[in-house]
Amino acid sequence: MKPSVLSIVGLVLATGSLLGAEPSPGLLGFMPEHVKAQQALEQKFDQQLNPADLRAWLETMAAEPNHVGSPHDKLNAEFTLAKFQDWGWDAHIETFDVLFPTPLAQSLELVAPTRFTAKLHEPAIAGDRTSDKTQLALPPYHAYGADGDVTAELVYVNRGMPDDYKELEEHGVNVKGRIVIVRYGGGWRGLKPKLAYEHGAIGCLVYSDPIDDGYGAGDTYPKGGYRPADGVQRGSVADMPVYPGDPLTPGIGATKDAKRLPLSEAKTVLKIPVMPISYADAQPLLAALGGAVAPADWRGALPITYHIGPGPAKVHLAIKSEWSLKPVYDVIAMIKGRELPDEWVIRGNHRDGWVFGAWDPLSGHIAMMAEAKSIGTLLKQGWQPRRTLVYCSWDGEEPGLLGSTEWAETHAEELQRKAVLYVNSDTNTRGFLQASGSHALQGLVNQVAASVLDPEMHVSVQARLRASVLVAGNNKNASAAERALARQVAAGPEVPIGALGSGSDFTPFLQHLGLGTLSIEYGGEDQQEGVYHSIYDSFDHYDRFGDPGYHYGVALAQTIGRVMLRMAEADLQPVREGDFSDTVARYLEEIHSLADNLRESTTRTNQLIEANAYILASDPTERYVQPAPTGAVPFLNLAALDNAVLRLKQSAAACDTAGAKALTAGLPLSGPQRAEIESLLQGMEQSLTDPTGLPGRDWFRHLIYAPGLLTGYGVKTLPGVREAIEARRWPEAEKYSDLTARALDRYSDRLDRLTEIFTPAATKN
Ligand SMILES: [Zn+2]
Repeated sequence: MKPSVLSIVGLVLATGSLLGAEPSPGLLGFMPEHVKAQQALEQKFDQQLNPADLRAWLETMAAEPNHVGSPHDKLNAEFTLAKFQDWGWDAHIETFDVLFPTPLAQSLELVAPTRFTAKLHEPAIAGDRTSDKTQLALPPYHAYGADGDVTAELVYVNRGMPDDYKELEEHGVNVKGRIVIVRYGGGWRGLKPKLAYEHGAIGCLVYSDPIDDGYGAGDTYPKGGYRPADGVQRGSVADMPVYPGDPLTPGIGATKDAKRLPLSEAKTVLKIPVMPISYADAQPLLAALGGAVAPADWRGALPITYHIGPGPAKVHLAIKSEWSLKPVYDVIAMIKGRELPDEWVIRGNHRDGWVFGAWDPLSGHIAMMAEAKSIGTLLKQGWQPRRTLVYCSWDGEEPGLLGSTEWAETHAEELQRKAVLYVNSDTNTRGFLQASGSHALQGLVNQVAASVLDPEMHVSVQARLRASVLVAGNNKNASAAERALARQVAAGPEVPIGALGSGSDFTPFLQHLGLGTLSIEYGGEDQQEGVYHSIYDSFDHYDRFGDPGYHYGVALAQTIGRVMLRMAEADLQPVREGDFSDTVARYLEEIHSLADNLRESTTRTNQLIEANAYILASDPTERYVQPAPTGAVPFLNLAALDNAVLRLKQSAAACDTAGAKALTAGLPLSGPQRAEIESLLQGMEQSLTDPTGLPGRDWFRHLIYAPGLLTGYGVKTLPGVREAIEARRWPEAEKYSDLTARALDRYSDRLDRLTEIFTPAATKN
């Protein structure tokens, strides 16, 4: 427990005002007379949740390596299937055949000026009972890097992100024909080798610097939970910001007879060899680099002076892989709705890990299983949901969201017709509620968060989250974003949910199919980061450092369980459109500031270049190359978007008011009207997609939320416009302003029609 947080919580209870008022009575989407029954249902649901179940399932499922293609992965699918069937669900396994390369041989040596052979191996650790089970485990590697055998000078490029290459250029160094070594962090893993290749490098090494998740962050495993010297972060480097899923079947399901691309045409497979290494293996390579001393913010926590090179360190890197198709096993379980069977409320968590995967992903999977068991008990007591529930245990998330993407692509038409919500989780630990997704669901999430108790503080998880946001915003080192969020939270009773980029199985549902989506997890008070994607992400580690007691696993099941049960039972889908319109309006303000700031900084920088200031400010004894001037930033015409957002705000406010009134009046609407309401709401999020998709990546169709092309997991909101401005493609920014405006107008059209139906005839003109 953190005393500072405790005192703030005390303050909340004492004053109430600082952190906002109690949530208003009633439940979003429910007629007043149905609220009590819903609360009783949720209480019965809670009674079945048992932390001992979660612990036992985790121990069984994390007992052996469970990556795609492993025997235990299939056993875990069968185990999950049997459980769902026992609990009364109609469940089956759906199989896809996907390209999944695994290493046959890998080596890395320093060949000059001294010699060193990298270990590339994670040794057993005392007290971690599975850490010696390497027989069936995949060694540390990067999936979907190229095979190759290269020898070249080494260059250190910090995090390997675009700004790092600009800085490298100012030092007069380039990476053409060389091998780069970069550290994890600062952007998604797969962008590092991709950018290295685009800058001319012939190989890429990615290491975990101890400053981020090793001894620089805390005590290392087994004393603490952080990354030991030989721990390696495996992972996929497929170019997922272009499209996730099987590289050979973009846009279609990887079924047995699917038409597949030849490997040479798979756009998401990288072109150069890339390898993840530990800091024990990285240190001799970095220590052997000469050249300029690395800039201050490029240095990590190794006991060496960081240099950028190039050379005299020279390395030999060789990788050979096996490139066959492997099966992925999705477990799909359903309970048919009693009144609206063709409206699906969908829940998913992946089941495959890189090795044992206790934290990533099984900690979320066991919470999902607890929900399914509890719902099964309700079913046996005679209850049936109003809408259909669909629970999915995904395989193949780690290599590239394979199981979820192939399922979503195979069933795209049916999902776009029936799905009303997709809720994802992945990893889960002690800590704070972390919720992101479609902003019309922000009210639902907050109402649920206000009703779930934090297992350690015994206040609502919403109160804890509010306290943490306010404290973070008040910190003297707070970022501009933290301060802004704290101001927003201080102004009202709720905590905003985040926007979704990528990094887990929600992506095909939100960004490809355009379905209302949420991601909900707990985290922030664990020591899991340092075993991420390593052999040490084990049951023994999670049991000590993830969620001892499994109370946050139960809290996750309670939280998502309520979201699922409310969406399944609600009289009217529990959305609040004003939250969406306010959020989009904020994104648009950011876009305007982005363009204005870029215009000013470009002018300033060009003036300094003109005045020779960069040269005068540099050390004449060191090599320095002045940046080239860039073109001035014009004033952009974003009027279409400005107008669409203005209209959206009015339409959303009117629809929320009319909907709430109709609900209190008991929705006295005829059959066809009810059907039209359901259909308008079901397709609402899809109106935000455009079939032409985003520039250069038409698989991503959502015009409000996307993973950044240059951030990978990190979100870009209003992505067509924002990324065009960031890349200085002015006509494209204006084109996407128009396309996004049209999408928002389609959304407003639906809101206006809903308002019309909700408004009683008598009050109409
Ligand atoms: Zn995961």
